[in-house]
Amino acid sequence: MANGQLSRADALACSDCRHACHVMLYSDTKSQLFGRTPIKHIILMQMRFDGLLGFPGGFVNQEQESLEEGLFRELQEELGVAVSLSEEDHVDARHAPGTSPSSPRLITHFYVKKLKEEQIREVEQASASTAKDHGQEVLGLVRVPLYTTKGGGGLSSFLSHAFIGNARTQLINSLLRFNLLSPEDLNKALKHSLKTHANGAVDLKAALALTEAKKDQS
Ligand code: AMP
Ligand code: MN
Repeated sequence: MANGQLSRADALACSDCRHACHVMLYSDTKSQLFGRTPIKHIILMQMRFDGLLGFPGGFVNQEQESLEEGLFRELQEELGVAVSLSEEDHVDARHAPGTSPSSPRLITHFYVKKLKEEQIREVEQASASTAKDHGQEVLGLVRVPLYTTKGGGGLSSFLSHAFIGNARTQLINSLLRFNLLSPEDLNKALKHSLKTHANGAVDLKAALALTEAKKDQS
């Protein structure tokens, strides 16, 4: 398959691979930001324990459970609710980049599931109250802003953050595949995102200089 993508069957045929499953849960919404900017879709991502943005999910215990059972269990732990997924929700499988040669190769599976807006709200509430992993593996759920503000922020700023593995690509591919955003809008946001990223580096250098000076004083 193209771009390093594996079929679900080919991925499962790798018996000495570890498998991890993650999901993009989303809904449509009629709500508007500041009463005028359509939000269009609610897409859930999370701030992970490692400070990176990613999708809910995790490792599957292949001897004990199917991919979908493993993902169901991970979602129970991370979101505090039962979200069942089927093979039809599986949209991508590929080898994770940069796995060390000594450790078993990791295949990441990606699922996308559309929910109702009320169900998304239930997930958000449970994730901050009953989810076992809240404050541990998961620092909080976040919604992805799909709009562009007057100053060029919104999606472009969101995309300039740091993501785990190929989560940014998974998000972008899904926006296109499920027609959640036009290629033109996405292209514009990504161009602006590169600028935001460069400004961020300038900011970080200034912060570093500040701590260097403090360090020398103490
Ligand atoms: P987790 O338990 O959610 O951290 O995921 C299990 C493994 O998958 C870890 O090694 C992560 O680094 C990796 N991982 C998590 N999300 C992604 C992603 N979106 N793309 C690639 N690898 C990921
Ligand atoms: Mn996880």
